[in-house]
Amino acid sequence: MSTKAYGAHAANKPVEALAIERRAPGPTDVQIDIAYCGVCHSDLHTVRSEWSGTLYPCVPGHEIVGRVSAVGGEVTGFRIGDIVGVGCLVDSCRRCASCEDGLEQYCTNGFVGTYNGPSADAPGHTLGGYSQRIVVEQRFVLKIRHPEEQLAAVAPLLCAGITTYSPLRHWNAGPGKKVGIVGIGGLGHMGIKIAHAMGAYVVAFTTSASKREEARALGADEVVISTDAAQMQTHAASFDFILNTVAAPHRLDDYTALLKRDGTLCLVGVPASPHPSPSVAGLIFGRKTIAGSLIGGIPETQEMLDFCARHGIVADIEMIAAQDIEACYERMLRSDVKYRFVIDTATM
Ligand code: NAP
Ligand code: ZN
Ligand code: ZN
Repeated sequence: MSTKAYGAHAANKPVEALAIERRAPGPTDVQIDIAYCGVCHSDLHTVRSEWSGTLYPCVPGHEIVGRVSAVGGEVTGFRIGDIVGVGCLVDSCRRCASCEDGLEQYCTNGFVGTYNGPSADAPGHTLGGYSQRIVVEQRFVLKIRHPEEQLAAVAPLLCAGITTYSPLRHWNAGPGKKVGIVGIGGLGHMGIKIAHAMGAYVVAFTTSASKREEARALGADEVVISTDAAQMQTHAASFDFILNTVAAPHRLDDYTALLKRDGTLCLVGVPASPHPSPSVAGLIFGRKTIAGSLIGGIPETQEMLDFCARHGIVADIEMIAAQDIEACYERMLRSDVKYRFVIDTATM
């Protein structure tokens, strides 16, 4: 079925209106009329081929919410009219050890991303949520239990929410733990809200002095301007866990220095060029770890959505029209977004 979408034909071409084809729903497929789609920094990295390997035309978008408009004959969990979400994954091998553990993002045979992944559908790769409709295998569709009027602000949970929730859970953020969140963008602002709701003592690190007061309103117990060495020094060797969401290269030693013995600095930001190599001494003195984490699997994404619904957590969003995506990318590059752009697909 022909579907209105926004995407780019090449790395140096702007995101613009185009028409794509969606398959008719197969027996286990759910067809979703997309209401809103969040704009993740990964969309920008991909559509401009900053990570290389982008397939064109590229239709980004993996923070998708909408309403079920058709289901295949073998679909059990969803009915027409249900409010649902789709995140960063639309398929995986479904049988490797990671898939069996519900960690499809670590599928050893390669997961299928919501965009830029391999697909039997035209044009041979997946096309994402900057579009009015998507067809997804039921295992990869999430139930939304927030009130419907919050739907647009739920969209960013599908990537920014799960990408912060998963490592916070894995490294046991909770009461008695001092947790840092670095970078208050789409991911970071969700990280602050979620770590706070988990009961951790939360310190936000920002390069933007203008975000200081707001970070406290988001749930940070303290806010540190990360370019101020004296402020950084007051937190030396005190953190159990630091989650770093920054999308640009920077000195990781500034953060390993803030970890307690056995503390972990987890990277989720994926800059287009490498961070300066971290100092070995900064790790061995204190048995510290630098780790990474990739989004989250489907069961944990559902757990995160339900956790956020229970705690009344949604993203702070700025709703945009599809025609404004390029301008919003430029603002994102200036750290000028509070805190997630969400496309109203009705504007397509
Ligand atoms: P975003 O909204 O642009 O936020 C990034 C934040 O990083 C900015 O708001 C800014 O916060 C800070 N920052 C930017 N440039 C900086 C610099 N030069 N030095 C220090 N801080 C800087 O991006 P996002 O959507 O949250 O995504 C963040 C990164 O995570 C991207 O690289 C994205 O691709 C990646 N990502 C990874 C996963 C995963 O599974 N691992 C999933 C989704 C996204 P302040 O103004 O507070 O300093
Ligand atoms: Zn994302
Ligand atoms: Zn697998």
